[in-house]
Amino acid sequence: MIPQEDIEKVAAASDIVEIVSGYFPLKRAGTVYKALCPFHREKTPSFNVNPHRQTFKCFGCGAGGGVIRFVEMYENVAFPEAVRRLAARAGIRIQEEPLTAEEDARQKLRRRLLSLHAEATEWFHRNLLRTRAAQHARDYLKKRGISAETAKSWKLGYAPDSFSAFSTFARENGYHDAEITASGLVTWKEEGDSRYYDRFRDRLMFPICNEQGETIAFSGRVLQADAFGGKYINSPETPLFTKGRVLFGIHKAKRPMIEARAAIVCEGQL
Ligand code: ZN
Repeated sequence: MIPQEDIEKVAAASDIVEIVSGYFPLKRAGTVYKALCPFHREKTPSFNVNPHRQTFKCFGCGAGGGVIRFVEMYENVAFPEAVRRLAARAGIRIQEEPLTAEEDARQKLRRRLLSLHAEATEWFHRNLLRTRAAQHARDYLKKRGISAETAKSWKLGYAPDSFSAFSTFARENGYHDAEITASGLVTWKEEGDSRYYDRFRDRLMFPICNEQGETIAFSGRVLQADAFGGKYINSPETPLFTKGRVLFGIHKAKRPMIEARAAIVCEGQL
């Protein structure tokens, strides 16, 4: 819970004109500012921001409120998250109720896993773009009509044909075995010599992102017809990833979906 006092502090420190202008341009019109409404489709601006009252109001669709409400609606996040984002922007430390030791550990692990996934995304992506071993993956993309720009924009990647290349990379970047295993990118095997092995091998990698665009899991597509495992394998459920709660591409589709008030749901990443 965020104390009321902190909410007020954050609202007071966040000028609505400045915040809204950070998202899209506003035009001065007398004592107010105007723009095309981001919450409905229109050709003439009926979205007003009043700097004196620190409010916004759309006379087309009726959306309106204060600065926190604006961030809630525009970013499509819940109230506490809107407050946190504005607080971070204003450099205000909000004193949420103290965490239990367990919750604190859980959040620390989540942060470590997010950063591991971010590094993994870049690593797989570099492999796809730059390594000779990924030639067949690049050929596959070409065959499917995926341009280099699309591959870059979606941070597509390539997991090398190796049982240990990724885990070695992760260890070299300071991640502990417990974190690497918790990420689901590496699996642990009881018998044999190699206790850890990379889950994704010789696969085209699709980062799966949360609504904020942070990678929380991967989906790996097979590149050889006779490869071991399914055509697609996904990250298992982890502290970051709950399968039933994620839609691939939501971070890019969220705004257009709100603008169009419609969505087309397709099966498969491609
Ligand atoms: Zn509107």
